[in-house]
Amino acid sequence: MKNIAGMIMLTVVFLTACGDLSAEDETNSEGSEQNTPQEKTEKNKDDQEKSKEEGKPDEENAAEKKNQQDESESSEEKPVETLYQVDSETSSIVPVNEEATEKAVLLTIDDVPDSHALDMARTLKDLNAGAIFFVNGHFLKSQLDKDVLKQIKKLGFEIGNHTDSHPFLPDLPREEQKNEIVTLSDEIEDIIGERPKFFRAPNGANTEYSKKVAENEGMVVMNWTYGYDYFEPYMDAEKLTEAMVTGKGPEVDVPHSLLKPGANLLMHDREWTAAALEDIVAGLRDKGYKIADPKTIKTID
Ligand SMILES: [Zn+2]
Repeated sequence: MKNIAGMIMLTVVFLTACGDLSAEDETNSEGSEQNTPQEKTEKNKDDQEKSKEEGKPDEENAAEKKNQQDESESSEEKPVETLYQVDSETSSIVPVNEEATEKAVLLTIDDVPDSHALDMARTLKDLNAGAIFFVNGHFLKSQLDKDVLKQIKKLGFEIGNHTDSHPFLPDLPREEQKNEIVTLSDEIEDIIGERPKFFRAPNGANTEYSKKVAENEGMVVMNWTYGYDYFEPYMDAEKLTEAMVTGKGPEVDVPHSLLKPGANLLMHDREWTAAALEDIVAGLRDKGYKIADPKTIKTID
């Protein structure tokens, strides 16, 4: 009985999860004090650009760029040992090597790069915590968007494919499903010089065909174990931190913890998630969890 209840819980979490678009809609409908998503995005990006230009002498900017280049070169040069593989049923990461710490979690960030991805990448970099950033083509329209993606890559993060326009894949004919996946991998390659190795469908909704396309494109397909930042009660840094660190989301009917070794944690490019990120990483580490380096996850060669 307990197992069945657990399964139902998981299914509920799953079906409502990565409710990226619906979560956005809910947030936006709160309305009055918020700008439209488009305005918000552009404003924040302007701010980012301004802060890049303001107050930093050119030399310092150049030094920063150089450092980032060095980081990316060194991380690419070092051969990294494969420690984990993604379980195709549960999306957990499973040790494949005695060197692997079993008590580890994988951090993933979807709907990138909207307004907060670069800040989130810098936060994670400072904490020496790896993550996969799953990007959408509709966030890669401007040169600034593309530069942000390049910087996230240079900071050492894995870039994943989250489809071109974030559709519900099961609603699309095969040809469009394929386009959604392949055109974005092409675009990512144009920008960062390599094709993504991981794929996550919007809302976790794959078809047998979309899975096959993603795998033929050389990507490991994954959903996630839990995530709470797209549920209204957890659109708050403090409450989100508590939910992510405990694995429990009592306000969305997850009274028991979903945190366990290998858990694949879903987050998004959102204001409250960016604000919570440092505490989430610290909290998970306090509980004895290692943040897995995505570069140690087995990919399709
Ligand atoms: Zn999404």
